Amino acid sequence: PRTIFSGIQPTGIPHLGNYLGALSNWVKIQNENPQDRVIFSVVGWHALTLPQNPKELVASRRDMLAVLLAIGIDPKRSILFHQDANAMHTELAWILSCITPTGKLRRMTSWKARLAESRNANDESEVDESMLNAGLLTYPVLQAADILLYRATHVPVGEDQRQHLELSRDIADTFNRTFKGSSRMFPLPTALITPSKRILSLKDPSAKMSKSAADPASRILLTDSAAQIAAKVRAAVTDSITTGVTYDPSARPGTSNLLTILAACVDEDVHDVAARCAGMNHGELKAEVASAVEALVTGPRAEFERIRGDVGYLDQVAQEGAAAAYELSAQTMVQKRPLRSMSHLRK
Ligand code: ATP
Repeated sequence: PRTIFSGIQPTGIPHLGNYLGALSNWVKIQNENPQDRVIFSVVGWHALTLPQNPKELVASRRDMLAVLLAIGIDPKRSILFHQDANAMHTELAWILSCITPTGKLRRMTSWKARLAESRNANDESEVDESMLNAGLLTYPVLQAADILLYRATHVPVGEDQRQHLELSRDIADTFNRTFKGSSRMFPLPTALITPSKRILSLKDPSAKMSKSAADPASRILLTDSAAQIAAKVRAAVTDSITTGVTYDPSARPGTSNLLTILAACVDEDVHDVAARCAGMNHGELKAEVASAVEALVTGPRAEFERIRGDVGYLDQVAQEGAAAAYELSAQTMVQKRPLRSMSHLRK
């Protein structure tokens, strides 16, 4: 059987892109693979790479746990826990960081993007990394530790995380090959690339729907009301082609994005959906999209509101999840003792 691990940062209520692109797949994986061990984590330590308001972070952590329960992650079936409740993640991250060349971390596109961002923000032509915190460079090692700590074999990720997963494999392999007696310490984790359902911004269909975009109308949150959903979809950017609906992502990105959303909500092929909507105008298409999104989120939204109010239940899930995660990770850190193989048995 496989051990499947995935994590998500506690950065506010997920949007439709997060849900369709990642989280709904988690539920599928959990439900379709009863023989596998499935582990899902709210990775609070990763959130610290960016400035956080402590009070808000505490609330976001709890909200993300409530969201995962609301969409169907079942703590009886999956290990669901807060990464920052298990200090073994940081212990293993430190060990792994000592066998990871900084050059590999500097080649991560996530790091390069941060550098470019900071360069633009400071209007500097020279790339200067000296002001960026070290966590931004090393968090892919923490990610490797998150995975390897549970000796996970499979990691559901989006295409954008493929490089980080490759690094995790690489680090696992380096560890296994470098230290005597540790050849089977870490299985090499395989990416389960989530079938790509990239949802674009409702306001700028050249960009993905994202939580950090300035305009809140560019994204639909899982907790948006039916009225908010309808208003955001109605105001979505489309094009001025009025004769019918076609799926043509390069010529008609806004319209095609609405079709992508509709197809994902009703779980049908986008071309079938486009054929069905061919005779519609944009107003009719938007009405269809809004009601499909509403139908998709209405259950999870109500569950979220219910669970969020049940602090006792949330605390209990967090506690039991932490205990299960601790027990499993101790099999790696206490029984297999990676540090001992490094310090005493070095080749
Ligand atoms: P940011 O604004 O920092 O890009 P985000 O919430 O939009 O944040 P991430 O936190 O990077 O996105 O991603 C969380 C998960 O959601 C990842 O697995 C990612 O692949 C997926 N995801 C994010 N945005 C989209 C999108 N627009 N369409 C499909 N999947 C997405």
